[in-house]
Amino acid sequence: MDSKIKDFMDEVKKRNGHEPEFIQAVQEVAETVIPYIAENEIYKGKNILTRMVEPERLISFRVAWVDDEGVIHVNRGYRVQMNSAIGPYKGGLRFHPSVNASILKFLAFEQVFKNSLTTLPMGGGKGGSDFDPKGKSDDEVMRFCHAFMTELCRHIGPNTDVPAGDIGVGAREIGFLFGMYKKIRNEFTGVLTGKGLSWGGSRIRPEATGYGTVYFAESMLNTKNESFEGKTVVISGSGNVAQYAAEKVLQLGGKVVTLSDSAGYIYDPEGIDVEKLDYVMDLKNNKRGRISEYVEKYSGAQYHKGKTPWNVKCDIALPCATQNELTKHDAEALLKNGCICVVEGANMPCNADAVHKFHEAKILFAPGKASNAGGVATSGLEMSQNSLRISWTREEVDERLRDIMKEIHDSCIKYGKEDDGYCNYVKGANIAGFVKVADAMLAQGV
Ligand code: GLU
Repeated sequence: MDSKIKDFMDEVKKRNGHEPEFIQAVQEVAETVIPYIAENEIYKGKNILTRMVEPERLISFRVAWVDDEGVIHVNRGYRVQMNSAIGPYKGGLRFHPSVNASILKFLAFEQVFKNSLTTLPMGGGKGGSDFDPKGKSDDEVMRFCHAFMTELCRHIGPNTDVPAGDIGVGAREIGFLFGMYKKIRNEFTGVLTGKGLSWGGSRIRPEATGYGTVYFAESMLNTKNESFEGKTVVISGSGNVAQYAAEKVLQLGGKVVTLSDSAGYIYDPEGIDVEKLDYVMDLKNNKRGRISEYVEKYSGAQYHKGKTPWNVKCDIALPCATQNELTKHDAEALLKNGCICVVEGANMPCNADAVHKFHEAKILFAPGKASNAGGVATSGLEMSQNSLRISWTREEVDERLRDIMKEIHDSCIKYGKEDDGYCNYVKGANIAGFVKVADAMLAQGV
């Protein structure tokens, strides 16, 4: 088996040699899915995984825009349309200086499995730009978004490809992008998700990734007769996912002691309660400030510049910032401090060595493609509401989100439970996600 995986990966590396994140994501899937393919006659000789690692379409385009001083800038825009076997391409847009083809291909590849797991009919895609919204004025962000959509609009549509937000793309950016799409195409459709409530958005969409991650973690804890009640929780990030993960942890009786951004983390031994979290939300969402400002307001807290929070003693860790933010060394620190459960709110925040450590120690570990699928699942619910031209209540959407997270958890158990009873959620998520897409690809022919 090892030689089969090696041969497959050699081929992937040959074709994508300069794309480390993409290769990392494919490797993790290959290790669990290739043995499954070997055991199942229907997939033999169909080269399904080889087809799945090649994007159906990869679009790259120039985005020229003018800043407030009249200076012209050029950024690169992308859309990776990875797989449409089970539905229109679906996945976020990321605006961040680190964005390149490797990062977007890894995210699009993960998205295929994630969307398949949600039980909803969505294919996988991802896009974005190396544009950095940080430090830009609202007008500059608007001009960039308009320029970006002027090109992207010809490649997307409510039945073709439905983008949403991701890092650097929130409600403000979705608004500007939607405005330009509507102007060019003269149509009001659900072409983007994460829209404002008054113009086609879904209730609970802003909260969904964070809430879903915690619902998933709760199901995992329940398998060990545990819950969030009284647990100390370390969270990284302070954006949309981290904020609502923290909110849900508090509702379930846990104590959140850290949040972070790219410059460092804050540690509040007293716990970040509802009032303090409100302050963080206002600071990040309205004032666009840095997390370090927290310690100016709450003097009992500490700020650790240039550090990540994985050395802080906790029961549960929720990495909600970005890819490869948690390394083998961090995993060792978490295990040493008695952490029993690590659940990814971001996409691939734990690197392969860290995941290996968690599996070796047999603690609860969930990959983002399963545990953070609540965001895109609720995007799927937004698409349904747009098609039906209705809008569901908060309770209806939340109940659907909970049910979907429970179903994803059950699928992971179904395909990931090992002989000794330990659940390998990575294996479970990969195989469950693969089966649905692979069966559709088989049915549709080459
Ligand atoms: N960017 C989110 C993710 O990584 C959401 C994508 C969507 O809603 O389409 O899943």
